[in-house]
Amino acid sequence: MCFFDQHRFVCGDWKWGHFRQHCNREYRMGETCGMKLVMQTYPVGQKCKLCEKIDTKMRRRQAEVERISRWNREGSKFRASIEKSTDIIRLLDSEIYELGCERSRRLQGIGSAH
Ligand SMILES: [Zn+2]
Repeated sequence: MCFFDQHRFVCGDWKWGHFRQHCNREYRMGETCGMKLVMQTYPVGQKCKLCEKIDTKMRRRQAEVERISRWNREGSKFRASIEKSTDIIRLLDSEIYELGCERSRRLQGIGSAH
């Protein structure tokens, strides 16, 4: 079991940091045994890249929702714009879903110790 730093983001996600210390199961020089253990945890004052991406898309989505409700109050003259906006929201929804999947895949990936 070799020791690494851990960086923890405010969203709760984390990633491995620098390698710190070999264990006695080291086989060859410069190689880790493959089993990672946390040496020290460093808080990172921001969300991870993936969560930031999700946030950006959520804000974009919210803006589209607000535009649609504004257009709806104007009657029927913005129907084409509303349809376009609805398509954008649908696209954003699937992108947000994909990012969420990627996030949980990654959490499982680094969570399993081997
Ligand atoms: Zn995150």
